[in-house]
Amino acid sequence: MTRRPARRSGTVTVTAPAKINLSLGVGPVRSDGFHALATVYQAVGLHDRVTVRDAEEVSMTVRAAARLSLEDVPTDGSNIAVRAALLLAEHHGVERGVGIEIDKGIPVAGGMAGGSADGAATLLACDHLWGLQTPREELLELAGVLGSDVPFALVGGTAIGSGRGEVVTPLLTRGSYWWVVLESPRGLSTPAVYREFDVLHAGAELDAPEIPDELTQALRGHDVAAVGAALCNDLQPAALRLRPELLEALSSSGSDGVHGAVVSGSGPSCLFLCGSRRDAVSVAAAMTARGLGPVSCAPGPVAGARVVASTVAGVR
Ligand code: ATP
Repeated sequence: MTRRPARRSGTVTVTAPAKINLSLGVGPVRSDGFHALATVYQAVGLHDRVTVRDAEEVSMTVRAAARLSLEDVPTDGSNIAVRAALLLAEHHGVERGVGIEIDKGIPVAGGMAGGSADGAATLLACDHLWGLQTPREELLELAGVLGSDVPFALVGGTAIGSGRGEVVTPLLTRGSYWWVVLESPRGLSTPAVYREFDVLHAGAELDAPEIPDELTQALRGHDVAAVGAALCNDLQPAALRLRPELLEALSSSGSDGVHGAVVSGSGPSCLFLCGSRRDAVSVAAAMTARGLGPVSCAPGPVAGARVVASTVAGVR
């Protein structure tokens, strides 16, 4: 049965963070076609901002920070924000349109789950706009239907991801970290990177993926050098085969103030772990001077998707 909740005027704005993978273990292909994953996620301080308002139809607009290209962002029903609004409405049997505005601060197709952030933000924003009060567990389940990285965008912090990444278990860690994020002017398709991974491992029997103990121990003790040494990503060789030019940038991991470097998720964004904000700013400046970029500095861990502004008022 469908229902039309009372019209609510006003807007709801939600921010959601980018994710990075401190470790990404890729295992055998499961019966549903997805690889089994074991990953340590961290939410970092690059955000997308989603604003929703009541409307007759579902529609969306997207704009971006000047450094980002919107070329790969669909503006039709395939946009994950639109899918999120429709999924939540269908789940509750709600008949209501919504106008969605996305402000992107997370690189598109950059291996930092910007689309997933928009999916999580839209779920939360529409839940608030429509006054649904969906229990957290249900929201997380809907998020997992939208995409493997979407539940983590709701949870944030530092967490273990298992299954295909959608099963998220918060990880107890201490302290915070500073990351230099080296973006690429051109994105990389996640399916293409997995295809390359499959080519590289053709005929090999993959082990069940694991989280390295050294990493969880280093995170518990806030040992920045040990976290840097434990960064790992099974997708990195595949991403580097598709973008060999990233290798040179990654090799600057030996430079002053950098404790470790790794490709973010399926790439092409690269991450450099620094000991302090000051180190991150100077590493970023040195990269920019070398003509690399765009480059930004981001702290982690940060919170998951959250309502940052709401002017919603019920109207009879
Ligand atoms: P993945 O989450 O698949 O690992 P990614 O983190 O590398 O991907 P995203 O920015 O999430 O990159 O975009 C992946 C693809 O999702 C884009 O190429 C685009 O076609 C599609 N997409 C759908 N909705 C959005 C959105 N709101 N923002 C960005 N991309 C979107």
